[in-house]
Amino acid sequence: MRVAILCVSAGLVLCAALPADGRGRGFEDVINQVTLDEFHDYLRVLTGVDPVPGDPPHYLTNRYSFGTDIHIAGQWIHDMFSSFGLDASFHTYDASYGPNVIGEIVGTTRPEDIYIYCGHYDTYNGSNQDDAPGCDDNASGTAAAILAARILSQYEFEGTVRFIAFSGEEQWMVGSSAYAAASYYAGENIVAAINLDMFLHPGWDNQEPDPDYDLDIGGNDASQWIAQNLADKFATYTPIDFEVWNDDGFVSDQWGFWQYGYDAVGLIENSPWEIWGGSNDDYHHATDTMYNPDYDWDFAIHTIRGSMASLIDLAGIGMCPADVNGTGMVDIDDLFDVLGAWGTCDECPEDVNNDGLVDIDDVFDVLGAWGPCP
Ligand SMILES: [Zn+2]
Repeated sequence: MRVAILCVSAGLVLCAALPADGRGRGFEDVINQVTLDEFHDYLRVLTGVDPVPGDPPHYLTNRYSFGTDIHIAGQWIHDMFSSFGLDASFHTYDASYGPNVIGEIVGTTRPEDIYIYCGHYDTYNGSNQDDAPGCDDNASGTAAAILAARILSQYEFEGTVRFIAFSGEEQWMVGSSAYAAASYYAGENIVAAINLDMFLHPGWDNQEPDPDYDLDIGGNDASQWIAQNLADKFATYTPIDFEVWNDDGFVSDQWGFWQYGYDAVGLIENSPWEIWGGSNDDYHHATDTMYNPDYDWDFAIHTIRGSMASLIDLAGIGMCPADVNGTGMVDIDDLFDVLGAWGTCDECPEDVNNDGLVDIDDVFDVLGAWGPCP
């Protein structure tokens, strides 16, 4: 880390030691809070290794859409969102299914713009719905949403961020379609949704050597801009390989959003056709557990980190409003930018405290945040 000493005179004299880091450091500080220990904590509860706390504690044996355990799982996810300080709610679209579960962080400057990070929490095992742990499919995406919610609850965003655990995915994206429909008819502006569904098992069980040991990032035509943002983040912040494809027949919960004209992208270990073709022998079986030796936990953690980097970029994480020019440093250039934009403004970056006025308060905000962004 290079360090420079800078002294400026702007009515007062300020000296600061300035490490020469880029803007990316801030994102890394956020996404590197994703740990395997915490991911496993959530997976253990969802797959019935650890009990859902309560009196009495309850071990989930499945999360089948029409069972009883899915309601206990849904309540637990709701309580987790709530415990992080999020505004938690249920979306019940059909009483015969478990509910969708939502945790929300309301945006600061453009709350009408909504960004969704989601995965389905229901499971399926056609030979015995009572024994359906669904670790890869899709406790993984559900735990990612809980984990991201816990970490990102510490931050503010320009737009509104929603973490959603959908139900009814296994019955053809019933929960996400109902949710997108409700949003559509309420006139909500969902800008982007990032859906995670199965990312523990890259590679193939029925082919040697394993081809396609990568993450699949799939969107429809209109959503390629999100896919590209994700690709950039995976290339920048993770070592894992990925491929981007464009296929409006990609069926997981992003598909529900597409039906109502919303842009959404899904992340998955292989395409659904590849999974149905045998890439994952444990898919929809009782062997889809945390103890599966084929699951790649490094790959999983990097999948969560890369996708979170995209989410916080799109939603406009507010880690460093005093960095007016977006260089990752609060320095003399930001101070001059504020002085040069003096007066009234409407959502301009120089209005650091966002009160509609570029004035002495913004100068003090810049001076108070002097140095590298967090
Ligand atoms: Zn799934």
